[in-house]
Amino acid sequence: MEIQKIDLMQKDMPRKWYNIQADLPKPLDPPLGLDGKPVSPDALGAIFPRALIEQEVSTERWIDIPEEVLDVYARWRPTPVFRAIHLEKYLKTPAKIYYKYEGASPAGSHKPNTAIAQVYYNKKEGVNRLTTETGAGQWGSALSLAGALFGVQVRVYMVKSSYNMKPARRQLMATWGAECIASPSSQTEFGRKILADDPSNPGSLGIAISEAVEEAANRKDTNYALGSVLNHVLLHQTIIGLEAKQQLAMIDTYPDVVIGCVGGGSNFGGIAFPFLHDVIREGKKVKVIAVEPKACPTLTKGIYTYDYGDTAGMTPIMKMHTLGHTFMPPTIHAGGLRYHGMAPLVSAVLDQGLIEARAYYQKEVFEAGVLFARVEGLVPAPESTHAIKAAIDEAVRAREEATPRVILFNLSGHGFFDLNSYQLYFDGAMEDYEYPGEAIEEALHHLPLQNKA
Ligand SMILES: *Cc1c(COP(=O)(O)O)cnc(C)c1O
Repeated sequence: MEIQKIDLMQKDMPRKWYNIQADLPKPLDPPLGLDGKPVSPDALGAIFPRALIEQEVSTERWIDIPEEVLDVYARWRPTPVFRAIHLEKYLKTPAKIYYKYEGASPAGSHKPNTAIAQVYYNKKEGVNRLTTETGAGQWGSALSLAGALFGVQVRVYMVKSSYNMKPARRQLMATWGAECIASPSSQTEFGRKILADDPSNPGSLGIAISEAVEEAANRKDTNYALGSVLNHVLLHQTIIGLEAKQQLAMIDTYPDVVIGCVGGGSNFGGIAFPFLHDVIREGKKVKVIAVEPKACPTLTKGIYTYDYGDTAGMTPIMKMHTLGHTFMPPTIHAGGLRYHGMAPLVSAVLDQGLIEARAYYQKEVFEAGVLFARVEGLVPAPESTHAIKAAIDEAVRAREEATPRVILFNLSGHGFFDLNSYQLYFDGAMEDYEYPGEAIEEALHHLPLQNKA
């Protein structure tokens, strides 16, 4: 029998998160207010707990994971690393392909890694009610899970098109005791304004963020939680790469290639940053690849500049790769990863030449996902199929160049709630779509600082 599953003992779990801000060759540009001046961390106090604001700007390299958070992680962590030997055989590749399986969490994705930490810090500072947004529903369900475990009330604004197309996700949120509302909604001023202009607006992640932030800013008892993009979110996700590094070390292995899919950048940062630590500090050579859809090509086609995190322009502006905050993802796109912007940390490591980015069409990633399910067994989330497609391409290249290579990718979640998208693929009803350059050009006219530069 070949070794196919590498488990880390719970007693050997990482006790600290890794903060890449300590090691960036060039530090991050700060978030700015509408006046073009850096926002003071205090200004964020209306919607975030102090501990998370501190982590957001921290340049400490290692940050302790609180014991209470470790206790919850231990319900399902460490997650396994698998070797995809059946996929290797199918591809006849000399490469070894490993994947970290984050679908093992109760919510089925990596998102609880930060949901648990965020709810913990809010609760500790006396906040017992949170709002958030969700697109496909994974973040909403992860925060609902964390709310249930810590006794914190959660209200989720869910993008209306997903709310209608993915009832199972909101049923899951309800099971964990959370309240889920279709966005745009009549609950907020911004939602009412959108509905007045267009009652059939299908919603977008940017609109839902605006609604959740508006409510948290207006209610003293309520904070806001974001599932991706921000520095503290990526920090919490580094547990993924830290565990994976230990697991590969158990079999005397180190990756040549590390791959993750990118929406807002959190699971990618989670798997990649602990290896970038070795690249920056120890001169290791690792090819690190961020993979996105051609329908939402933030890293490969977007501009690296200051933009809003939301559609209404209520958030501070951040320097990141962006398609413009007015970006409306096409409804025919089924593969997730639809956010207009990108984590400033992921944008920075791309800009500083530490990683590369790649975009694929949706049919080719679903083809990769189906192949993976048929040879390995696990059914991946549509988002994760982007990483699988890149891993396959790297393995095929290893075959063509006859060079053995160790490939590690993050399998960010399982696809049990996304089988409708698989069905579209099987029915031949899925269309490839590439976001047009003119639309990006147009959106860039609405950037916040264009008249001030
Ligand atoms: C949310 C999600 C993503 C995309 O978000 P990131 O912040 O880029 O990681 C990817 N995969 C799964 C399974 C998700 O739930």
